[in-house]
Amino acid sequence: MAQQDENPHGEPDKPGAGFRARPCPICGKPSVFEARPFCSKRCADVDLHRWLGGAYAIPAEEDDEAPPPRRPDD
Ligand SMILES: [Zn+2]
Repeated sequence: MAQQDENPHGEPDKPGAGFRARPCPICGKPSVFEARPFCSKRCADVDLHRWLGGAYAIPAEEDDEAPPPRRPDD
């Protein structure tokens, strides 16, 4: 766990390296690499629901157990 930099190629190995945070299109918070371009998976889901249902959904529910919607081809 205490390993130093082991990048033989000198490339950034950390997730998010070189990632330029943009404001979340849903709530305006800084986006995170894991959920880009959103600030969180929740906001990503909100955006998806907007596309699917055409209704604006506010990420107010506390349901984090919902599996990610499947997208056949992205
Ligand atoms: Zn957001």
